[in-house]
Amino acid sequence: MGQRVVVVGNGMAGARLAAELHARGQDKVTVVGAEPHRAYNRIMLSTLLAGKIGEQEVELTEATGRGVDLRTGVAVRAIDRAAGEVRTDDGDRIGYDHLVLATGARAVVPALPGLDPTSPPERVVAFRSLADCRRILTLAEGARRALVLGGGLLGLEAARGLAARGLEVAVVHRVPYLMERQLDAVAGEILAGTLAELGVTTHLAVTPTGLTADPTGVRLSLSDGRTLDADLLVLACGVRPDTALAEAAGLTVDRGVLVDDRLRTSDPRVSAIGDCAQHGAAPTGLVAPAWAQARVVAQLLTGQDPQARYRPRPVVTRLKAAGIDLAAMGDPTNGPGEELTFADPTRGTYARLRIHDDRLAAAILLGDNPSVGAVIQLFDRGHPVPADRRALLLGRAVGGGGGATPAASPALMPDAATVCQCNTVSKGAVVACWRGGARTFDEVVAGTRAGTGCGGCRDAVAGIVDWLSRTDPVEVGR
Ligand SMILES: Cc1cc2nc3c(=O)[nH]c(=O)nc-3n(C[C@H](O)[C@H](O)[C@H](O)COP(=O)(O)OP(=O)(O)OC[C@H]3O[C@@H](n4cnc5c(N)ncnc54)[C@H](O)[C@@H]3O)c2cc1C
Repeated sequence: MGQRVVVVGNGMAGARLAAELHARGQDKVTVVGAEPHRAYNRIMLSTLLAGKIGEQEVELTEATGRGVDLRTGVAVRAIDRAAGEVRTDDGDRIGYDHLVLATGARAVVPALPGLDPTSPPERVVAFRSLADCRRILTLAEGARRALVLGGGLLGLEAARGLAARGLEVAVVHRVPYLMERQLDAVAGEILAGTLAELGVTTHLAVTPTGLTADPTGVRLSLSDGRTLDADLLVLACGVRPDTALAEAAGLTVDRGVLVDDRLRTSDPRVSAIGDCAQHGAAPTGLVAPAWAQARVVAQLLTGQDPQARYRPRPVVTRLKAAGIDLAAMGDPTNGPGEELTFADPTRGTYARLRIHDDRLAAAILLGDNPSVGAVIQLFDRGHPVPADRRALLLGRAVGGGGGATPAASPALMPDAATVCQCNTVSKGAVVACWRGGARTFDEVVAGTRAGTGCGGCRDAVAGIVDWLSRTDPVEVGR
């Protein structure tokens, strides 16, 4: 296909776009990536940090440059929209007919006396990239104590990972409870209790006031007058979309690079996807939207579907931390409807549902709850909740229109139920892949991409494959 497409950024969005373009026969694609290695699954860095997988398992194999001019370790320094070219830091100029910005986001380094954001002390690492993960792992070797600044999703995953490596870990969080963007105060408190049992202590409603660090350790001063000492400090204070290139090129930027339903920026020859893009009120910072956006851009640029448009889907957040089951969706603390809650702090269990017009508007499920799959499906698809709501709250088997936990009962799941949230793969797509000839878990994963994002659905996919291998009438009839 004729037009030259240049993608800036070889992260999860840029690499996926290259693969989507390649799959549709687009042959003039250049991807410029500042990181020195091939694309990898950034989400799985938490799992790598926890020691559950090795480095080779975070590589994104689909995007290894087939038919794509991939330039790694090269950064785009400027965009010349008038000339239709980008300039790279190795002195090259690359012409484009269409440019896609997939520059992602950067970790926020908080303003703190003693912390120079341009050259943080040796034992202080902001957690975002594979290089950061490697550094944390090196520092953790032989270390006894670690501090994590930030009690959001990323901070808690890092804290749990370090605790799993045998370190004493303390999390410092400025809000009175953990993960305030997804949880309420009760859930936050129960989560802190579960973390304590796993070797992670939490210091809440305190802000850091200063940092001293030397090659042997760090000391963090807190707003309540205390100081905390550790061998390393991990910063998990949020991310900021990387919009510098777009801004310098005169594109319209709010918190992210503003895009429309076609992912076009204020210049129709330039698109933006992933963490750097803002469609609607705020950037999402999640992979499912990034991958959905990559698909839409590929459909549009190749002419495969000129009507393709990006439609945001409801977001489900799951914590990837061994020993903690947590799923959160919607805003349980605000909005109309009836509320149901169940709390059993001694067992680390909490459930809160908000139901509006017979539909699930929001939910928090903390601790072992077998209904989690059904709750996610109800939220995702907007189907009516079952008459017996206690089933959802307490985690008993769910009947009626509520669907079922995939691994427990794939037969009861509707075909349209989304199994893999990251790649938006339905049960029907898994079944179709099986009927198309895939016979093993790995073949189904390769054929559908289910399970290749956060990995949270891999048990569910395995459950469906197992169920098909035992019951599929097509197979039985052969
Ligand atoms: C530890 C961790 C766990 C996470 N867990 C989850 C999760 O469970 N679920 C979820 O949905 N999301 C999760 N996320 C967020 C998820 O990783 C991001 O949403 C996703 O990576 C966004 O993809 P992206 O390509 O837009 O950005 P990135 O993956 O950040 O890629 C951007 C790339 O662009 C490159 N770049 C930037 N500027 C330039 C330039 N000028 N020239 C060339 N290259 C450039 C960067 O170096 C980078 O490689 C997690 C993130 C982290 C760090």
